[in-house]
Amino acid sequence: MTVTTCQVCGCPAQLFLCPSCTGDLRDTLTALASGGQRPITIVTESGKILYREETMPGMLEYLAQAANGQARLGNTSARKTGGDESPLRYNPRAAALHQECFEALRMWARHIARINQHVLTWRTSIGYATYLANNTDLLAKDEDAGEAHKRFNTLARRIEHTINRPIPPKLIGPCPTFDENGNRCSIRQPNNRKTRVALYARRDATHVVCPQCKKRHDVRDVEQKAIIDREKLRFDASEILNLMASINEPLSERTWRDWRAKGRIKIRGYRRPDGSKGLTRHNDDDEPLYRLADVRRLRAKQPKRKARTE
Ligand SMILES: [Zn+2]
Ligand SMILES: [Zn+2]
Repeated sequence: MTVTTCQVCGCPAQLFLCPSCTGDLRDTLTALASGGQRPITIVTESGKILYREETMPGMLEYLAQAANGQARLGNTSARKTGGDESPLRYNPRAAALHQECFEALRMWARHIARINQHVLTWRTSIGYATYLANNTDLLAKDEDAGEAHKRFNTLARRIEHTINRPIPPKLIGPCPTFDENGNRCSIRQPNNRKTRVALYARRDATHVVCPQCKKRHDVRDVEQKAIIDREKLRFDASEILNLMASINEPLSERTWRDWRAKGRIKIRGYRRPDGSKGLTRHNDDDEPLYRLADVRRLRAKQPKRKARTE
């Protein structure tokens, strides 16, 4: 695969969109289809407390409701029948936008499905959006991927305007903070299990403050770290130094050499001279590989002045 540039942001990419812009497009398509899962607390009649996940409606569902003039979602009392006032007012602007979304989603879903010989089973706007959200990596391989990115982001913004209600904030990723013991920023769940703190932000936010550790994070930074963490990618020594600098956690060459020499950082595999990867060393030319999360964890454990100088 050749290295080219992302059609949206211009940074180096192996497909027509870089990983960050692909993630961005996936988020938009996901937001169209579904509002995601929210934790909710239910108190039963006998006083027992239950913790459940609830699926929230996505933007398309809000839009369809706006088109039909429904005042549902928290205001059922507005629906009356037979009165002089007619709360079920048809909204032609919302209906036209919904049709426009349906056509754009159908066009792209059919196109991607045809190329990859998939069969589309759910032929609704939400069905097409779900299919595209699940296959955004295939979409990023299309030479018009930049167009799709622009189109769906514009549609999402227009929906927000039309339905005139705040869209639930989007999940950007887990809080990337490590404490001085090298533990991830986390909260204890009611069942006593510890889970990492999920950070949510408004779609246009540039920064987010973690409710747990109170640190202020750059949204793109959190998203980038979430991608690198999620994919459990392995990098060689010089790639690690560059990546650490790029996520604003620079490491001095001396410290990094020292950690490797003393075996303080775990080797997670080897890259062979032919570019393939394996878990064990076959010969002296094999390059050791490391995980970014391991390096970040170790760096967080260092006394501040040692890790930050040079
Ligand atoms: Zn990009
Ligand atoms: Zn935090």
